[in-house]
Amino acid sequence: MKVDYSAVVDITHLRPWSFSKVQKAKKCQYEFYFRYVEKLKPAEKAEFLILGSGVHYILESALNTAFKRLKPLNKELLFYFAENFKKEEPEADLKKLKEFFPNILKFVNGQLRRAGESRLVASEVELAANREFEPVSFGSKEVFLRGKLDFVFSKGDTLYIVDHKTSRSYDFDNKVKTQLRWYALLAKVKFPQFKRFALELHNVRYGTVKRIIFSENDLKAFRLKLLPIIETIEDEFLGKSFSDLVPAPCESNCRWCDYRHICPAVQSL
Ligand code: SF4
Repeated sequence: MKVDYSAVVDITHLRPWSFSKVQKAKKCQYEFYFRYVEKLKPAEKAEFLILGSGVHYILESALNTAFKRLKPLNKELLFYFAENFKKEEPEADLKKLKEFFPNILKFVNGQLRRAGESRLVASEVELAANREFEPVSFGSKEVFLRGKLDFVFSKGDTLYIVDHKTSRSYDFDNKVKTQLRWYALLAKVKFPQFKRFALELHNVRYGTVKRIIFSENDLKAFRLKLLPIIETIEDEFLGKSFSDLVPAPCESNCRWCDYRHICPAVQSL
């Protein structure tokens, strides 16, 4: 893979910010440069990422179908969605995807009972805000922050936001809590009528759902904390070329890095 190394980081490489992009910027500046400045495609897609995308695809298709028909789904339909996914992603392992079917079915049919009467129900909701935290369209040049919500529905003054995970850890750690706050903040921009935001972590591997509630005040405090973090990252990157950046090679960072095959820093480990 050829790397040019002549590009200088400008604001279009940095914005829009997503939760995962901020994480990458804080983790290793070289990795950020390869992914977002040189825009290099990973040499290969990790198996767990393909599995996670497949589970998300099946869940989204299943939720959309169940809420359109307002009828519980059966397993046969999940096979159909999985085969559709395999057409887009030939590396997908149908046998591994099938292991998630019982929990997917339980979740989708459960949500139909719980949210069938909601005024607002949607899956894969794209949200974006400008620097003033006003809503803008997802593809707009003004986007400062953005994110995608897996599934949302409303009950009274509460907006429920569900995030699907396929990882082996099923509890909230600080990283997950920050990601959920990020989603709640974007949801507040788009849906200001809600007073409470119930963020639910749906672990599809174990079939568990854990909930954390954020109030309007929690989100105001988060917004105040987030802005200086992003401003600091922008200062650290803007106008820099590859030789000005600082890598962060270590076992935990480099082991799963998509660019270890080209990174000059990993070779010194
Ligand atoms: S291999 Fe390590 S040092 Fe190199 S970009 Fe990846 S995380 Fe950074």
